[in-house]
Amino acid sequence: MNNADLVARSLARVWHPCTQMQDHERELPLVPVKAAEGAWLEDFEGKRYLDAISSWWTNLFGHRHPLIVERLKAQLDRLDHVLLAGFTHEPAVRLAEQLCALSHLDRCFFSDNGSASVEVALKMSFHYWRNAGETGRTRFISLENAYHGETMGALAVGGAGMYRDPYAPLLLQPVQVPGPDCFHRTPGESWEDYSRRQFVHVQAALEHHAGEVCAVIVEPLVQAAAGMRMYHPVYLRMLREACDKHRVHLILDEIATGFGRTGRMFAGEWAGVTPDLMCVSKGLTGGTLPLAATLAREDIYQAFYADHAAGKAFLHSHSYTGNPLACAAALATLEIFGQRDWMAHNRGLGHLMWMAVSPLLQHPHVAEVRQQGMIVAIELAQSVAKRQPFPRAERRGLRVYRHALGQGVLLRPLGDIIYFMPPYIVSPEEIGRMAQVAIDGIQLATA
Ligand SMILES: *Cc1c(COP(=O)(O)O)cnc(C)c1O
Repeated sequence: MNNADLVARSLARVWHPCTQMQDHERELPLVPVKAAEGAWLEDFEGKRYLDAISSWWTNLFGHRHPLIVERLKAQLDRLDHVLLAGFTHEPAVRLAEQLCALSHLDRCFFSDNGSASVEVALKMSFHYWRNAGETGRTRFISLENAYHGETMGALAVGGAGMYRDPYAPLLLQPVQVPGPDCFHRTPGESWEDYSRRQFVHVQAALEHHAGEVCAVIVEPLVQAAAGMRMYHPVYLRMLREACDKHRVHLILDEIATGFGRTGRMFAGEWAGVTPDLMCVSKGLTGGTLPLAATLAREDIYQAFYADHAAGKAFLHSHSYTGNPLACAAALATLEIFGQRDWMAHNRGLGHLMWMAVSPLLQHPHVAEVRQQGMIVAIELAQSVAKRQPFPRAERRGLRVYRHALGQGVLLRPLGDIIYFMPPYIVSPEEIGRMAQVAIDGIQLATA
């Protein structure tokens, strides 16, 4: 096998995700990967790429971390897979116990990808109210620019037009409100003040719709897919209080922010907020296997617990729910978290990332550099003063992507927002390298 062969065969048969396939024949090379280790990917000719986005935010401790590999092999020698309906196994039980302890929640429902865990949360919330006799609650409140996944329910509560618009006629109608994206604060205004100010929108929606709403769903602190849009924890604190006051569930989608990404185990911790339902996936297995979980409060679970004849059970399932291999990888990942103070380590790396990109603060086409822990994002603009983006068709971010690939760094900008979201084992030298490549790429792309 060589690079060219694999790319040709892939383009002939594999329908790649999230891609206009025609791009691969022109400006966007398809990158063949033969192997990976630590923060690096390698192709068939020995060319290496620094994985600065953790393979779509999944990888926490580097590729093929020895402990995860060891635990996976041991699990494979014991039990590959068994259904979780009517049967149980040690990895699922131990993982459920640990996830409940970490999240301060009580019950763990497994699925196998982030979107599915969001579907589960939405269905659980709606079904909770139905079981409680409040059948008028059929809607959800969500934020503009939210991203919760690609399946119909998750897509419906998302707010990013590009993904959602083609399917609009098929989707649930959430009450969508402007969010607290602090990029739009006025000059001199603090994140906290702006986040407070923007809270009026969700507050008004709750006051107006409380009786027909099941839950509010948000990504805590970082609206990742929309371009690493960030806000202050005060918003979550106010949201928790308002949801309690109006008797509405709070769903935190921690799929991108969970497992240390923001410098705490879960981003909700910055606000001291425990949700009613929490979705986790992506980093859960350290980036090795698909797995997700929806964590629920005991009272939600209890609303389904009844005589069989009452017909109140939650009948959702997936064939691979709680797959033992994936659970073993997740347990190994949590074990690695226990080996040192990764949160302090990540705060240190976050500081290095910020220092490394600080020259861009003065760049004439950089409208903002923003950060939450191990996420640093750089937003390009045609006019910084007017906060006016480059015309979409110019695809400036794509130029940065191409430059970085040429230099052996995998960046994958979201439109014109360049970001770093590296694995936690990235070295100071590697941070310096990815920052320099991004700085050069931005210079070229905006010249
Ligand atoms: C990636 C993501 C999802 C969807 O997860 P998949 O595993 O890709 O289905 C949902 N919510 C957030 C916040 C995400 O970042």
